[in-house]
Amino acid sequence: EAKRQRDGEPKRFCSALEQKLEEQLTLERELRIAIDSGALSLHLQPQVGAQQEVIGAEALVRWLHPQQGMISPGRFIPIAEQTGLILPLGAWVLKEGCRLLGEWQYDPRLRDLKLSLNVSVRQFQQPSFVEQVISTLRDTSAPPERLTLELTESLLMSDPEGTIDKMLRLRQLGIRFALDDFGTGYSSLAYLKSLPLDTLKIDIAFVKDLTLDMQATPIAATIIALAESLGLDVVAEGVETADQCTVLAHLGCHVYQGYYFGKPVPAAEFTRLNSASSFIAS
Ligand code: C2E
Ligand code: MG
Ligand code: MG
Ligand code: MG
Repeated sequence: EAKRQRDGEPKRFCSALEQKLEEQLTLERELRIAIDSGALSLHLQPQVGAQQEVIGAEALVRWLHPQQGMISPGRFIPIAEQTGLILPLGAWVLKEGCRLLGEWQYDPRLRDLKLSLNVSVRQFQQPSFVEQVISTLRDTSAPPERLTLELTESLLMSDPEGTIDKMLRLRQLGIRFALDDFGTGYSSLAYLKSLPLDTLKIDIAFVKDLTLDMQATPIAATIIALAESLGLDVVAEGVETADQCTVLAHLGCHVYQGYYFGKPVPAAEFTRLNSASSFIAS
């Protein structure tokens, strides 16, 4: 068509853009199928406490693509959010996460672990979200007090009242809330105070720079102090070294998640590694 017939830069630009769009459309079509066909799975990454003991896990969705292999959420969550596929995808994650929590109740070691699920803005803003969670908990016999939902600052800014209302209703069931990637958004401190949160997760960006010489600690230190003054727990994300862990402990953060303690692994592997039978065997 007309655009293709132009000479020089614009033509190259258009075809690169077209190619990108084409790829996105293909991925969207394939994702739609993947959600219904069992191609999604949850990987679990351990969260550890002060004694480096596993206290829970965060569930991270993966897509096993027939040609491309394992695709990370950084590539398909944005597409899912743009197209509305995040609703069936999020429902699947909720169901699968709760199914795991239900299953864990039969194991004396797994039953005390917490599970965190990431919830997208659009997913949380569905009018029926609270009912969806209630019916999923019922269907799976998952204990609500073991479930944490990770929200992002953008949600809290786009619909404060609706968000707080839903959070309070879910909290009555025993569900907890963590604010993910904290420090990368723009939530006001006054507003933060009014939210029924339990946990702040320090974004990986502020953990990356931590070294024993205690330089570059101000942001992490500020977030930890803020959490303390608001009475919130704090989890450090992306902990990769013993030194980062030492500095975080010194600053007052005692729950960690990161490659240093464990990469995300398939849920079945996490379950096996942390079950009572594996504990006795090891
Ligand atoms: P997030 O919720 O902040 O998850 C943490 C991300 O950091 C994960 O990436 C995890 O694999 C990675 N990570 C953990 N420890 C380390 C470390 O020590 N070093 C480094 N470099 N990275 C580390 P992943 O699995 O690729 O997920 C990316 C993002 O995709 C998540 O960020 C979350 O925003 C989104 N996501 C993942 N699963 C879901 C889901 O089920 N639903 C929704 N809505 N979003 C999801
Ligand atoms: Mg998260
Ligand atoms: Mg995060
Ligand atoms: Mg993130």
